[in-house]
Amino acid sequence: MEYKILDGKATSAAIKARLAEKVKEIVANGGKRPHLTVILVGSDGASITYVANKEKFCKEIGFESEVLRLPESVTEDELLKKVEVINRDDSVDGLICQVPLPKHIDAQKIITAISPFKDVDGFHPVSAGRMMLGLPTFLPATPYGIMTLLKEYKIPTRGKHCVVLGRSNTVGRPIANLLSQKGEPGDCTVTICHSKTPDIEEFTKRADIIIVALGVPAFLKGNMVKDGAVVIDVGITRIPDVSKKSGFRLQGDVDFPSVAPKCSYITPVPGGVGPMTVVSLIENTIKAAEGKKQAAL
Ligand code: NAP
Repeated sequence: MEYKILDGKATSAAIKARLAEKVKEIVANGGKRPHLTVILVGSDGASITYVANKEKFCKEIGFESEVLRLPESVTEDELLKKVEVINRDDSVDGLICQVPLPKHIDAQKIITAISPFKDVDGFHPVSAGRMMLGLPTFLPATPYGIMTLLKEYKIPTRGKHCVVLGRSNTVGRPIANLLSQKGEPGDCTVTICHSKTPDIEEFTKRADIIIVALGVPAFLKGNMVKDGAVVIDVGITRIPDVSKKSGFRLQGDVDFPSVAPKCSYITPVPGGVGPMTVVSLIENTIKAAEGKKQAAL
């Protein structure tokens, strides 16, 4: 089958250009530049890369931004106090704390301490609850990015059977919820599979849309997919590769060579969901700066 690529890189670049125009407009009308603060704890290689990407993106579209770098040894109390200070700082519109956090810190406690008005990652229980009810809120960036990609490519979702592999609070569960809601993209019949699901291929083989968010490299194989399926690969795993300057390559959860020929549409890794995630975080921050969330609450 002739498959088409859902190009997250190109789609996010087009949205980025629109957002940069919007920032210019806000500033030209006397508004303040949207301001994102990122807390980065420790020195996890992938987190450092993600945060650097976010910082670069902010700079390129005219945001104010800063990264608060804290050592691995920071205590939960110290971190909570930092969050409190930023919550009260009116110049900051969006605040995110990069995960994973060191084991001695309860990540949920930190997420819950972030003001829901500044929760541009959409992980706060208030944001999650509002999303669940279909109310205006900050959607978590990765599911938001997937929804935007489906919308931009006008992928029909109404009445389709969508199988989501993975049930994390950040990806699997929210995307399953969003696609089950009324509207387009949405109106899907959704099945969620996880590590306790026997015979996952029995579900994926019947799916019109498959969203894979496991963190298991090349998990989804061609023989698990029906002809014409739409496949969205969220997974990112760093695989050691001496031929690369970085020393690693990125592998998705989908075995692209065997799956792609069965698909109507498929996202690549890299260049699929990843760039859509960053752009969605920035869209949330603009909404926060415009006070839309405050109006909604
Ligand atoms: P996570 O919190 O570790 O959740 C993984 C989920 O996969 C869990 O629900 C787990 O089941 C399930 N699972 C793991 N191994 C399985 C297996 N062999 N069979 C069936 N289910 C299995 O991961 P996450 O945060 O959702 O991230 C998933 C992947 O997406 C990772 O590679 C991550 O790096 C990537 N990611 C990418 C982006 C992006 O922007 N592209 C953003 C976020 C995450 P249980 O619940 O039963 O344990």
